[in-house]
Amino acid sequence: MSFNQTVLICDQVDPALSSILQKNGLQVTYEPQITPDELAKKIGSYDIVIVRSRTTITKELIERATKCKIIARVGVGLDNVDAEFAKTKNIRVINAVEGAMNAVAELVIGLMLALAREIPRADRELRDGKWIKKELMGTELAGKYLGIVGLGNIGKRLGRLARALNMNIIGYDVIPIDPEFSKEVGLIKADLDTLLQSSDYVSLHVPLLDSTKNLINARRMTQMKKTAKIINTSRGGTIDEEALYEALKSGNLGGAALDVFEKEPAIGNRLASLPNFICTPHIGAQTKEAQSLAANVIAEKIIQILRGVL
Ligand code: NAD
Repeated sequence: MSFNQTVLICDQVDPALSSILQKNGLQVTYEPQITPDELAKKIGSYDIVIVRSRTTITKELIERATKCKIIARVGVGLDNVDAEFAKTKNIRVINAVEGAMNAVAELVIGLMLALAREIPRADRELRDGKWIKKELMGTELAGKYLGIVGLGNIGKRLGRLARALNMNIIGYDVIPIDPEFSKEVGLIKADLDTLLQSSDYVSLHVPLLDSTKNLINARRMTQMKKTAKIINTSRGGTIDEEALYEALKSGNLGGAALDVFEKEPAIGNRLASLPNFICTPHIGAQTKEAQSLAANVIAEKIIQILRGVL
């Protein structure tokens, strides 16, 4: 079956996406640097619009997308697409939840190890000509308690990887947790308060919703061990950054690593002035494998929708 549809790809995505769609007869226009103004002029000519993170599909753009049947995000979160409004216009909004699972979970392991062994500081000091071996007395992950908040795709993948490092896994979610996963990792189920009180590391894997905005706030930080470390690779805004700054500065919290921020790009964020803080520029899903997987998932979903089976 060949589909005669027009597709506009607005952001840089894995080339597999264009090539699969073209093989199926779709006419693909690849404009990874398109500006909002240019997009506003062109969007009306396309049946399918594809974005990653750079482009935001606003209500105004959707109003102009009169031919559009599908908006696809090559990634997990739909923060940059007004999905509710698209639905009112009978536009399908799809994403690729599977793509980033392993990439984000591996980044969390990397950030935990970086915090435990102060790897960024060790690297910086040696480059500066300082051999501070005696100051760099680290800790190990094995035997420590990892509290995972949100046990969806990424939270569960992290649980499995961390279990392989002999960490004890504590989990909290607002929906029932997958029993197979619980059994596999020997999950200790807890409410959020107990999880925060008991964990050496806390990692967030929740979407940003009204109910998760500042989920980890000043009060919750006081529940945590003074040596505990918190990692956020989910969405900026789920941790209160002001409260985090105060907790790290006063020594009420052991350390933190953030990949996501309230305001991005997080250039000049004052958290970066603290020694017990590590940051990365929203690179959770930034692996070749994750991008290729997400591109393949989106291509497959588009073809299935056009075939009428999804
Ligand atoms: P998912 O939907 O599979 O899982 C999210 C889980 O959070 C669900 O089980 C849900 O019930 C739970 N949850 C919702 N509200 C909660 C609350 N108040 N308390 C506890 N649990 C709650 O999503 P996922 O694919 O695992 O992604 C998790 C997060 O990671 C999302 O915010 C996503 O946008 C983000 N993400 C970040 C990157 C990155 O580059 N850093 C990449 C991919 C995904």
